Amino acid sequence: MTNNEKVDVVIVGAGASGSVFASVLAKAGKKVVLLEAGPDWQLGDLISSDIWGRRIKPAGAPFLLEGKNPYGYVYQAGWGTGGAALHYFANFPRLLPNDFKVKSSYGKGLDWPIDYSDIAPYWDKVADDVGVSGDAKAEEIWRPAGKPYPMPPMRIFPGGAAWKRGFDALGMRLTPAAVGINSTEFKGRPACIYDGWCHVGCPIGALSNPLVTYLAEARQAGAEVRPYATVTRVLTSADGSKATGVEYYDANKQKEVQEASVVVLAAWSAQNPRIMLSSATDKHPNGLANSSGLVGKYLTAHFASGTSAMFDEDLQPYMGTIAAQYFSYDLYDKNAHKEKGAFGSTFMVAGAAQRYSALGGVANSRPDLFGAELAAFMKRAARGYTRLNAFAEEMPVIENRVELAGDKDEFGMPLGKITHSFNDEAVALFNANFDKGVEIAKATGAKDVWPNKGPMPTIHLMGGTIMGKTAGDSVTNSFGQTHEIGNLWIAGPGIFPTSGAPNPTYTILALSLRGAEQLAKDWGSVAG
Ligand SMILES: Cc1cc2nc3c(=O)[nH]c(=O)nc-3n(C[C@H](O)[C@H](O)[C@H](O)COP(=O)(O)OP(=O)(O)OC[C@H]3O[C@@H](n4cnc5c(N)ncnc54)[C@H](O)[C@@H]3O)c2cc1C
Ligand code: SF4
Repeated sequence: MTNNEKVDVVIVGAGASGSVFASVLAKAGKKVVLLEAGPDWQLGDLISSDIWGRRIKPAGAPFLLEGKNPYGYVYQAGWGTGGAALHYFANFPRLLPNDFKVKSSYGKGLDWPIDYSDIAPYWDKVADDVGVSGDAKAEEIWRPAGKPYPMPPMRIFPGGAAWKRGFDALGMRLTPAAVGINSTEFKGRPACIYDGWCHVGCPIGALSNPLVTYLAEARQAGAEVRPYATVTRVLTSADGSKATGVEYYDANKQKEVQEASVVVLAAWSAQNPRIMLSSATDKHPNGLANSSGLVGKYLTAHFASGTSAMFDEDLQPYMGTIAAQYFSYDLYDKNAHKEKGAFGSTFMVAGAAQRYSALGGVANSRPDLFGAELAAFMKRAARGYTRLNAFAEEMPVIENRVELAGDKDEFGMPLGKITHSFNDEAVALFNANFDKGVEIAKATGAKDVWPNKGPMPTIHLMGGTIMGKTAGDSVTNSFGQTHEIGNLWIAGPGIFPTSGAPNPTYTILALSLRGAEQLAKDWGSVAG
């Protein structure tokens, strides 16, 4: 076992949230080490190929998946520098004011200890840091005013324009989507070329992945990235009052210790609680910062109801980005589908690119077609297919959770088990959004319209280390600092008490920036 020289901060995970903490703290003059379980990817490694893309989407040790709606974590997890954000779609919506006091307002779910106005300045700052394209003024029909985005909206292609026609016909509103993609050159990074390969990583750096944003800044400020370093435990002092560093296995599978004055866990919503639970000691018999028993609890997922529309005209579906062209918060009222027994917000995105290699998924949405009929359908889809996706919100319940399993991984660390089920209100919301999607699709004038109905998906994992006011109701405060161990911090969507409906990364980055700045400011009283 090797003991490395003590540093100021050790960050576990070099993905979306860890990169922000690394950048802020390295720029504040702290000695920062990022331990990353996967490889140190470079832009030059990224290849626009679905087969290659499979290599970048595992998420460390597998989880055992249980419950009525087992969690499908593979398609929103990442491995290696950049994490899942190396190859995300970069839809950058923000939460709305009605997301922060759900328990007080509706008697369901949980409240956040902060409001929209606490995060708003950080959304604006993140946009200027990483580059966001969109029309902030137009979004003010749904949200309070903020700063303009640094780049104008992305190009609109015929598939997106078709959905705009449908929304207009029904008196519903769409605005150009806010995305973390360059519509123009930005800080030396090129503008997007609209070839639709974002989901396996953008090789030219037009997509704002951490490699070209916060992680690059962190390295420039002196942060060290140690790839193939898998953290298995957070180490604590004999009296249990502070974290002293972490134990990890290096590229040669040798055990090492990295001591640090502050430990930041940024290894994603499922791995962070797994590490905290695995770090139990006699002073922390239930795992770290877990006297409330809430570590691993209140997991939430988004689910999406997709609607397909097929046109005879050429929509150029192969052009664009995998992010949306337009988005809408028109169904964001949590009671928008109350008459159908549903509860929760809905956020709609329209017009993602569909490269030919993605049309396999379209075929799967029509199991009624075979042989020549299916071949003719696929030919039409290559020119005339477009899709609307309605992301929706699940309320947090304590039964949806990560816990330790009996089986162990290659490093002897207990595997995690994720138990997840949707409740009746979520199922009702899923179904109601198909009905609405079909109504909108019919209003586009499409030749054929159908709902992509299959098993209810789980997209984006949030919760597990939720923020709150006290150690009795939560694991961390609103900055990500654990209530019980002052120099142990958590970053990422795990600290969201409720999920809202929008894709989470814009908020992950904003909250990480807010948390990291607070940590730098309070350094003297926090560092162990
Ligand atoms: C295909 C796809 C599309 C997506 N599209 C969008 C989108 O359009 N908009 C949006 O907002 N979000 C999107 N997401 C989700 C988004 O990428 C994640 O929410 C975000 O990256 C989570 O940030 P994080 O910092 O918590 O984790 P990550 O970014 O995943 O980083 C976690 C890092 O920790 C490392 N790690 C894990 N365990 C350990 C360990 N034991 N020791 C050391 N390191 C460890 C991992 O290897 C990983 O690099 C998408 C994700 C995918 C995969
Ligand atoms: S569509 Fe744009 S952001 Fe996506 S991979 Fe291509 S150039 Fe990059």
